[in-house]
Amino acid sequence: MVNAVQPLLSLLHEFAEILLDDCCAGCGETRQGDESQPCYCHGCEQQLAPSPRHRCRRCSAECGPWSAIDRDCVHCRGRRLRFSAAVSLGTYEGLLRREILAAKWSWSSARIQCLGQLLANHCSDAIVEWAPTLMVPIPQHWKKRLTRHFNPAERIAAEIARRHRIPLDLHMLLRSRASRPQKRVAMARRFENQQDSFQLKSPDDVRGHRVLLVDDVLTTGATCAAAAQVLLRAGAQSCHVVVLGRVTDGVG
Ligand SMILES: [Zn+2]
Ligand SMILES: [Zn+2]
Repeated sequence: MVNAVQPLLSLLHEFAEILLDDCCAGCGETRQGDESQPCYCHGCEQQLAPSPRHRCRRCSAECGPWSAIDRDCVHCRGRRLRFSAAVSLGTYEGLLRREILAAKWSWSSARIQCLGQLLANHCSDAIVEWAPTLMVPIPQHWKKRLTRHFNPAERIAAEIARRHRIPLDLHMLLRSRASRPQKRVAMARRFENQQDSFQLKSPDDVRGHRVLLVDDVLTTGATCAAAAQVLLRAGAQSCHVVVLGRVTDGVG
C-alpha cells in the first residue's frame, strides 16, 4: 500500500512546487519579485552558478589559480576529447549536485528546465564566441530510458536552443550499440566503452555545422568525445560542449 501511495504523493508534491512558482526551487524560500532568474533565489543562484572561477577552457574543470588552463589541465591532459572546449555551471558538488539528482529523478521536467534556463544564461559568452549552428543532446542509454521519465540532456538543450535561437535536433545522435552505462565502467576504461557507441541519423545534415553538444554532467569526457568523433567525421566544422556539472573526483 505504501508503495502505491508514495509515487502519488511525490507527484502531488511536484505539482504543488510548480504551482507555487514564487518559491525558490533550491531552498523553498519565497523569492523576491525582482529576481532575474525565474526559478532560484539569488543565494541559490550564486551557489548553483558561481561567478567564473579558474576553469579549464577545454574540459571546464576547476583548477588551481596558478594552473595553465588555456589548452588543457591536469584533469584532461592526454585525453582525446575531440571537442574543442566545454563550459558548465560549476563543479558537480553541493547544491548543484543535489539539484541535478533531484531533477533527473523527478516525475516532471520542471526542475531540469530551471537548471537549463540557468545554464542558458550562464553560458551566453561561450555561445556567442562559438556561434553554434546546431544543437545536439546526448541520447540516453536504453537502460535509463526504462526508468527515467525524460532525457535531461534534451530538456537542457531545449532551454538553451530557445534562449539563444539555435536549431535543435533531438534525434541526430543515435546509440549504435549496447555500451554499458558509463557509471558502471571503471574511469580508465570509459573511453574504450564509448568507442563507436554513436551513429548519426543523417550524416549529410551535420556537414559544415558548428555543433553544440549538450549533456547533464561531464566526467571523463568519454561520452561527449565519442559523440564529437562521429560528428566531426561526418564533416561538422567544430564541436563544443555544454553541461550542467563537471565531475572532477576520482581521476578527473
Ligand atoms: Zn533559494
Ligand atoms: Zn581540462
